[in-house]
Amino acid sequence: MGDKTLVVIDDDDLVGQLVVEAAQQVGFAARAVQDFEALKIQVDTAEPDVMVLDLVLPNVDGIQVLRYLADRGCKAKIWLLSGFDPKVVQTAERLGVSLGLNIVGALNKPVSVTTLKEELRKQLRESGDFSAHDLEQAIADDHLFVHYQPKVRLAGERIAETDSDVLTLTVDDTPFEVMGFEALARWRNPHGALVSPVKFIPVAESSRMIEQLTQSVFRQVIEALSQWKARGVRLNVAVNISPSTLADLDLPDRLADKAGALGVSPDQMILEITENSAVTEDPHFMDVLSRFRLKGFGLSLDDFGTGFSSLIQIYRMPFTELKIDRSFVSEMDQNEEAFTIVRSIVDLGHNLGMKVCAEGVETRASANTLMTLGCDYAQGFYFSRPVALPDIMRRIGTASALDVSRRIS
Ligand code: C2E
Ligand code: MG
Ligand code: MG
Repeated sequence: MGDKTLVVIDDDDLVGQLVVEAAQQVGFAARAVQDFEALKIQVDTAEPDVMVLDLVLPNVDGIQVLRYLADRGCKAKIWLLSGFDPKVVQTAERLGVSLGLNIVGALNKPVSVTTLKEELRKQLRESGDFSAHDLEQAIADDHLFVHYQPKVRLAGERIAETDSDVLTLTVDDTPFEVMGFEALARWRNPHGALVSPVKFIPVAESSRMIEQLTQSVFRQVIEALSQWKARGVRLNVAVNISPSTLADLDLPDRLADKAGALGVSPDQMILEITENSAVTEDPHFMDVLSRFRLKGFGLSLDDFGTGFSSLIQIYRMPFTELKIDRSFVSEMDQNEEAFTIVRSIVDLGHNLGMKVCAEGVETRASANTLMTLGCDYAQGFYFSRPVALPDIMRRIGTASALDVSRRIS
């Protein structure tokens, strides 16, 4: 592997040198530039792997820089350097993402060398390019595993049938009923770093590995459900399904058989399909979805609000739940439009006979707003980050209070 390259642009030479030194110590080939023209040359000739951008430059604004990078199809991981106003950086971050740039975060000035080095080391570890073959090996070696993020009930009747069945999660002294979890795939790469599914799912999808990956996640989830059942707890788990997997007409039968073999009922499983992938005229797609429903699986429309489904498509498809995309949820307390969208999705879901779950709930204020709107379920860092199975098992084993603290993991 050749050295990874880093370019920093800052009109303050001292900041540039500081970033370069930190990057070199970590193992990057690094260079600083002070103006836009010099940056353009670097982008075109060196194709940097990582860029650190100061958005406030003389003669050019940061937005123009981001647009330039997007036009050049820049693939670098980009850090934004924030001066005084975090709002400007947030807006730029959002714009960069919407332009298709790989914005990884913002660094506050004055830049802490320790933080910078830590972040850059992380980038190096994670950027270990991997192939579908590496992923295949990871699945075979059990390096691909599942974390579980609790989904709590905000409104409606209690789900658990008896008192002893209720699992609660207490946050800021308020107990919430845990109705289940979302299963999220995780990969520990050979360097010991956790690779995000945002990176490896596309690789799995573009090879045939996604089928094996889905099977592996399913197997782990069914085993977890059966272990919980042995301890007298009946929960459900949502599993993310890639659209390419849905071309497999036998999938509903195979999954139902697998679940049945361990005494798990399909109605304990919800399949999540992103809104974008659900907008298809493929007749097989509808066939597979309908058969999943007939076998008792729940079906959830994930990241709802970001795709282009029409009302008639939602109405025709056998979904049981809408999951509001976290981009609206995270902004609804500051932004009137985001709030209106969340409220409209809750009403739409209910009017079409579906449950509605909000994802990305990070604050008490958001949880309160969602309760006022009558949103059925919620998921997010405010309640708990995704946690490893043993953490859940320990708590299920000891008491009926599932105290997965928000601070775990
Ligand atoms: P998703 O299905 O929309 O999952 C929710 C993502 O939001 C998860 O990211 C979760 O960790 C994150 N999240 C949850 N609460 C919060 C919060 O309060 N704030 C913020 N900022 N984020 C929150 P993760 O685990 O990185 O997964 C990303 C995506 O990868 C998932 O989005 C899903 O589309 C895909 N994915 C994950 N596991 C699988 C899998 O087994 N199969 C397939 N096909 N896709 C998967
Ligand atoms: Mg999901
Ligand atoms: Mg989602």
